[in-house]
Amino acid sequence: APSTSSAASTASSYPTDHNPIADPIDTTNFIDNEFTTSKATTWIDLHDPATNNLITRVPQSTNEELKAAVASAEAAFPAWRATSIMARQQIMFKFTSLIREHWDRLAASITLEQGKTFADAKGDVLRGLQVAETACGITTQMTGEVLEVAKDMETRSYREPLGVVAAICPFNFPAMIPLWCIPVATVTGNCLVMKPSERDPGAAMILAELAKEAGFPPGVINIVHGTAPTVDFILDEPAIKAISFVGSNRAGEYIYTRGSANGKRVQANLGAKNHAAVLPDCNKNHALNAITGAAFGAAGQRCMALSTVVMVGETKEWLPEIAERAKALNVNGGFEEGADLGPVISPESKKRIEDLIASAEAEGATILLDGRNCKPEKYPNGNFVGPTIITNVTTDMKCYKEEIFGPVLVCVNVETLDDAINTINANEYGNGASIFTKSGSTASRFQKDIEAGQLGINVPIPVPLPMFSFTGNKKSIAGGGANTFYGKPGMQFYTQQKTVTSFWKSEDAISTKASVIMPT
Ligand code: NAD
Repeated sequence: APSTSSAASTASSYPTDHNPIADPIDTTNFIDNEFTTSKATTWIDLHDPATNNLITRVPQSTNEELKAAVASAEAAFPAWRATSIMARQQIMFKFTSLIREHWDRLAASITLEQGKTFADAKGDVLRGLQVAETACGITTQMTGEVLEVAKDMETRSYREPLGVVAAICPFNFPAMIPLWCIPVATVTGNCLVMKPSERDPGAAMILAELAKEAGFPPGVINIVHGTAPTVDFILDEPAIKAISFVGSNRAGEYIYTRGSANGKRVQANLGAKNHAAVLPDCNKNHALNAITGAAFGAAGQRCMALSTVVMVGETKEWLPEIAERAKALNVNGGFEEGADLGPVISPESKKRIEDLIASAEAEGATILLDGRNCKPEKYPNGNFVGPTIITNVTTDMKCYKEEIFGPVLVCVNVETLDDAINTINANEYGNGASIFTKSGSTASRFQKDIEAGQLGINVPIPVPLPMFSFTGNKKSIAGGGANTFYGKPGMQFYTQQKTVTSFWKSEDAISTKASVIMPT
């Protein structure tokens, strides 16, 4: 039986509170469809962010274990790629129905390890599940093309799997991001070695258990753990043909550069600083609610969090009303009824966020709502930061330039739509941007001129559903955005094209003399 603390739970029994765990169980590797205890000498303590109680220890998987995971994937590949696409589709159908069945259990693992509220964790699972469900349509998505290119001659194109591929995941979406990778990589015929975040691997371990139950053969999905040593192994292992990474710029730029230099395909989604422009003609109530939800939901730990508002003209007068709505949010343990936002991931993260708030104050900004020293009554030891609003911010301030990744809304005031567009475009990140307006022509101007990959018009977090692709821009995606997760580009990332040109002519019509010129 699997022996991670959360994977040890079952569909009907899983944690529903933040009470201390009497006997925390170490997280295991998942290699060759077996949950095996690591022989690691280095272990990473994983704490509940709401209490800082120990939940499990995550191994730094040993070199032998990393090699065993790759060997298992390599061994599984020939048979897996030869499995008919209909058979792989059937396994995906089963996998998606098991995820639905274990939805609450997956969400509970996320609330316990990552900290987000249970309701929000259910959304984390759903967004990943939708990628898996869409991947069930692979039978129509992976078709090639055929053309008769000359008399008696035709060319057809195929898509073939790459072989062994790897995924390196961040902490903030413990189910969704593994599910951006597992379904698309495997249904196209690849075998996967995945490294979840060392800060919350529980959901990925449950997914491994469900994948095994769904019928994925041994070696098709493997999970190893750790930090930089595991990543460096993946980057340098010749058998690994492609790497999917989601996380910070610091890690991602390094991974993209070293992985690409080693001849691998790399798709890498990085950090963000998403702006919303608020126009005076917008539906004020909708805009203020949307901004409050998108800035502070998941304690701001979403790559598409709306972390910066650009208030155009008189809308700067509305900032106290955003503060009123933010103040009304309930900061609490994620399992608590009515909790709107939970803690941030670690004490280090809390300190980094609070230091950035202090830096804004020191640089002359106004702290309109201060979430420092936030201590929900039941959780005095958690990593809580309350909703914070910083106003009178200028674009040279540290709080504006850096990704805060916490429940902090940074507010810039400008006079015109042009000023708003110029401000947003001057920011080096380009994941998402939104505009709130009732004017079609204003929205259309914004849509054309903004240099961000995912735009919302009266939509605060415009993450595309899986029939589209996750399309960041500028510093928010490595490699100029050539490779993007899920949707058609995601399927293309995990497959290699092959073209076959064939010539069929009756024997007696074939010339007896060799031709040495290019056909003209
Ligand atoms: P992170 O970069 O710290 O960690 C991501 C992964 O990289 C982890 O598995 C970690 O073990 C590994 N890693 C970390 N430091 C490393 C190093 N020095 N060398 C090698 N590997 C290393 O990111 P995080 O804190 O887990 O996630 C938050 C970040 O992810 C934010 O910047 C957020 O914007 C970004 N993010 C982006 C998207 C997107 O789609 N653009 C989605 C989610 C999160």
